[in-house]
Amino acid sequence: MPGFEFFGEEERKEVNDVLETGILMRYGFDGPRKGIWKSKELEQAICSKFGSEYAQLTSSGTAALTTAMAALGIGAGDEVIMPAFTFVASFEAVLSMGAVPVLVDIDSSLTLAPDAVKAAITSKTKCVMPVHMCGSMADLDALKAICAEHKLILLEDACQSIGGTYKGKALGTIGDAGTFSFDFVKTITCGEGGVVMTNNKEVYIKADAFTDHGHDHLGVDRGADLHPFLGYNFRISELHAAVGVAQIKKLDTFLALQKRNNHILKSYMEQVPGISFRTVPDPSGDSYSFLSWFLPSQEATEKAIEAMKTAGILAGNFYWFANNWHYIRKWDHLKTAKSLYALSDVQQKALTTLQTNTFAKSDAIMSRCISTAISLTWTEEQVHEKGAKCLAVIKEALS
Ligand SMILES: *Cc1c(COP(=O)(O)O)cnc(C)c1O
Repeated sequence: MPGFEFFGEEERKEVNDVLETGILMRYGFDGPRKGIWKSKELEQAICSKFGSEYAQLTSSGTAALTTAMAALGIGAGDEVIMPAFTFVASFEAVLSMGAVPVLVDIDSSLTLAPDAVKAAITSKTKCVMPVHMCGSMADLDALKAICAEHKLILLEDACQSIGGTYKGKALGTIGDAGTFSFDFVKTITCGEGGVVMTNNKEVYIKADAFTDHGHDHLGVDRGADLHPFLGYNFRISELHAAVGVAQIKKLDTFLALQKRNNHILKSYMEQVPGISFRTVPDPSGDSYSFLSWFLPSQEATEKAIEAMKTAGILAGNFYWFANNWHYIRKWDHLKTAKSLYALSDVQQKALTTLQTNTFAKSDAIMSRCISTAISLTWTEEQVHEKGAKCLAVIKEALS
């Protein structure tokens, strides 16, 4: 699953190119950098690999989401519909824009339930943000139709599904904009980093300036740039981009390993009585970074977890229902609006309302779901061993 498992000579060589010149910044210093432009190189590689017209690197995936929202004009009081199962970064980005996260149910795809999205639309809704969790995708045709009907922006949080596709198109390139994260545990990594992808030139130009204090990057040098609007510093450094330049060349290898290991593991897990698997709207587009499966009841799932723990094979298996970072149930800091700085009244109210909202449909799914992270380093033999052991332990626990 994470690219850091294959950190080697190639990454060191790219980083060294930057260390040789000492120009760690992505802009300017044209002479001393001696033709080394790692950030530009990575942006071009992203465009050609994923079929996006434009790509703007950022300092993190969270910064990429924030930048995308700014470039799409999402701001104070706008409602962004997002899933109750995601990583905290998704709502952090919404809040940082002054916008309001509207959390709704997921379905067995582990992503936004289209019906729940429809039911949540109000006159304040500006954007629908599906999160392609655990390597696979939301029902993008259904969400696109909803967005078209209600004139809403579609922003894909594809941070966890690098290399996944939907009907032949890369996840993250299908909405008005999409983002990847290159943090340390993602499919490819820069150490820290992220990217905004879009096919809309205007959105790209805004993203480019927004991530660099509003610089229009049209001056003869940095000092001559104008500032057509306010921005922030969400720049990636050349050192981080250099790691990404090496990693993106390995992506096809990573995806092939994920697919192989995922298939082997699944061949064992499907023998567990009563097991079912996550719905994948386009099965050929799964990036296979996780195998997500459901047992028939919460009780059976908790039993399986206990048994796996006792057998010492729980590592790499995520029971998100009980996890602090990924599911609404444990987001107490969000539900109590514990912010270091004053949130707007609208935000404050929306967050505290979450305390009384119920997510029965999501609970019914998440309480039975375990996601197994697929390692790139497992040999075929090791996956067979893991699969057989896991099958035996769970069968025994449920018998
Ligand atoms: C990793 C991730 C992000 C962004 O995280 P950063 O650590 O800021 O790069 C956003 N959304 C999801 C779903 C993620 O998994």
